[in-house]
Amino acid sequence: MLTVSVDIVRDENGNCTATVSTFQNITEHKNAENFLPQSENWFRSLADHLPVAAYTCDNDGLLTYFNKPAADLWGRSPALQDPADRFCGAYKLFSSDGFAMTHESSWMAAALRSGQQLNGHEVIIERPDSSRITVLCYVTLFYDQTGRQAGAMSVLIDITVRKCLEEETIRLLNHLDYERERLIEVFERSPSFLAILRGPQHVIERANTRYFQLVGRRDIIGKPIRQVLPELPDQGYLDTLDEAYRLGKSFAVSNKEVFFHKEATEPSLVDFIYEPLRGGDGNVVGILVHGNDLTEQKRMQQRLIAVTDESDRLRRLYETILSSIPDLVYVFGLDHRFTYANQALLDMWGLTWQEAKGKTCLELGYEPWHAQKHDREIEQVIATKKSVRGEVPFLGKNGLRIDDYIFVPVIGADGEVEAIAGTTRDITDRKRMEQELASRAEDLTLADQKKDEFIALLAHELRNPLVPVRNGLRIMEIADSDAATHQRVREMMERQLSHMVRLIDDLLDVSRMNRSKLHLQKSQVRLTDVIQSALDTARPVIEEAGHTLEVTLPSEPVYLDADLTRLAQVFSNLLSNSAKYTRPGGCISLTANVVGETLTASVKDNGIGIPPEALTSIFEMFSQVVHSPEQATGGLGIGLALVKTLIKMHDGEVWAESEGPEQGAIFTVKLPRLMNVAVQESNNNPYRVQQSRVKQRILVVDDNHDACESMAMLLRILDNEIRVAHDGIEAIAVADDFRPEIILMDVGMPFLNGYEVTRRIREQPWGDKIIIVAVTGWGQEGDIAQSSAAGCNAHLVKPVNLQELEKLLAELTEKNKSLAKTDKQAKQKT
Ligand code: ADP
Repeated sequence: MLTVSVDIVRDENGNCTATVSTFQNITEHKNAENFLPQSENWFRSLADHLPVAAYTCDNDGLLTYFNKPAADLWGRSPALQDPADRFCGAYKLFSSDGFAMTHESSWMAAALRSGQQLNGHEVIIERPDSSRITVLCYVTLFYDQTGRQAGAMSVLIDITVRKCLEEETIRLLNHLDYERERLIEVFERSPSFLAILRGPQHVIERANTRYFQLVGRRDIIGKPIRQVLPELPDQGYLDTLDEAYRLGKSFAVSNKEVFFHKEATEPSLVDFIYEPLRGGDGNVVGILVHGNDLTEQKRMQQRLIAVTDESDRLRRLYETILSSIPDLVYVFGLDHRFTYANQALLDMWGLTWQEAKGKTCLELGYEPWHAQKHDREIEQVIATKKSVRGEVPFLGKNGLRIDDYIFVPVIGADGEVEAIAGTTRDITDRKRMEQELASRAEDLTLADQKKDEFIALLAHELRNPLVPVRNGLRIMEIADSDAATHQRVREMMERQLSHMVRLIDDLLDVSRMNRSKLHLQKSQVRLTDVIQSALDTARPVIEEAGHTLEVTLPSEPVYLDADLTRLAQVFSNLLSNSAKYTRPGGCISLTANVVGETLTASVKDNGIGIPPEALTSIFEMFSQVVHSPEQATGGLGIGLALVKTLIKMHDGEVWAESEGPEQGAIFTVKLPRLMNVAVQESNNNPYRVQQSRVKQRILVVDDNHDACESMAMLLRILDNEIRVAHDGIEAIAVADDFRPEIILMDVGMPFLNGYEVTRRIREQPWGDKIIIVAVTGWGQEGDIAQSSAAGCNAHLVKPVNLQELEKLLAELTEKNKSLAKTDKQAKQKT
């Protein structure tokens, strides 16, 4: 049995162009129809016209009927009663959650097995073309006339579209939720403060964290703004809010100070906008408040300004310091280019910073070897992160200098070298000083050595004269009756003593000279007096050696502005030297002549001579030409140094000449002379002093018994009345008892020294008229001043020369007498 359907094919004008006939074999279908009980016919014709898919199965699950929608749904038309398609004509089945189902586990099978109808179960059908359809399955059982279950009908409602819509809706809702959440998060996390106000009362519906930070943690949600932020109305901000709501206009406020707490001392600085929110009908339903709290930003700005100011100040400070220091300060970048140079360096280059900036040493004109040296050192600092130090000669504006420099790594935050800072110091002067110091140290060592040699020499020279003195004493003891021997011995002892005293005097002069304490007492002196004085001193030595002496002086009187004693010392030294350094029986001459304003005086001998290399050095302190032992003459090497100093102090000069060893020597002194002098008798001539010898009462005080006794003996011989004391206490007691006219007071005594004794004696009513003469080994200016301060009338240095003492005592006695006379006359007048 066939069914025929004819379709008409039309052209674009709607005219019939062909017919298509479709034949379908419905034999089986018809057989099944016949098989169905007649009572079901009406149902089948109903089912055929149903808009939904429906099919039936018998109790075994064999398909007994399906309508066209069912075939469309399945995408196939299975054979009826075919065991291959039991329970369902679908190609494949899946549960609603996507798991594959067998036909035996379909809802139809479940209903047939359970005898229960099943409604609205979801199942997914896969068609042969792999498309899937979701259906709701309603299974209804049907029964035969006896009421027995005869099969079941399943209605499948295609819900694919609905399902898609549902899923889309869910997806959209989820998306909506997600978007909402995101919005809320954005709202919450916004760096701006945000609040949504609803209605004319501005009820705060939502506010973000920033908003809470701004207004403080308060219970504001769901409450009108006026109620929860009562501080705002007074500041006029809510009027604007009302207006924004009423007019539906947005209002922006910027850089405004708002106090968010009544008691707040500092306002918050804010920018904000009132933005109207509209409902579906376009009417304003609320206000979005959003803005920024600028307080912290402002604080930061202020802090930044302060920090910038401070760093500016420091920069100026450092710049000033760096500009003012004489050292060169600079910074290299990693590319060896200067990124900083202080003023001293710019001055040295003779460039401005604009000219020097970013240049390398080579580009700045350093010599290639110099630039390369610094390049290597910069690389070394970068590689090792350690400083490099060096010295380099540098030819700059100030000539050739020596620079001491150090390159130091500047370490960045990442621990790597980011620049190289350097300082350079001009050490030319230091170097010179170091060299000077080294040479001075050498000189000092030499001087020290000389000093040691000198001390040894001094000991030797002081001991030498003691030998004849001791021998003389012994001779006098043995040959006490031989007057001629006594005389010879006495003269010899006196010579040796004078020599020793001269040595010591010279030593004291040297000490004065070294401390610049050598003072001259200049006056108008005659050259002849000077020479006479010098000859008096030198003659014994000259005569002792058997030399002949020739003195030639200018015929005219020559006057000098000089210290007679010191100038005489100069010539006596030169004459003594000639006597010493000339073999016995030699010739010595002293010749003086004047040319214009200059006096030239030479001392010439035919002695051992001076090697040329020593002609200058012999004028240095402690300098002696090394002589053979037999030529050693006894001296300390200070005589010529004194001569040189004294002549210089007289504005003159002195030099030595010699043709060499054994060729004799000439010492020449040049001095300015006084011109057009009115001839006057000099008062300085020590040989004119009147000496008086009057019997006097003298107390000799000395803790050295021998010195004390010998002095007492001498003075007794000279007819004086003498008492002695050996310490300070005894001295006062004896003085009180003896009431002397004169006291010779030793200064250095134990317990009570001479100064103190003098002071105490001067306090006594009988003590002020006594002539007290300090007698001491100390003869420096300070010592003399000290004895004068203690009340002494005079100061004599040991060993006291008796003639000198007598002269002094005569003077002092004379002075005392005239004072007493004046006193008496003054008293008589009153
Ligand atoms: P002193 O004579 O005590 O050694 P001086 O300072 O007077 O010290 O002399 C220094 C040195 O100069 C002497 O040691 C001697 O070597 C040398 N000298 C001085 N005068 C003469 C001279 N007339 N002839 C040769 N040498 C002399």
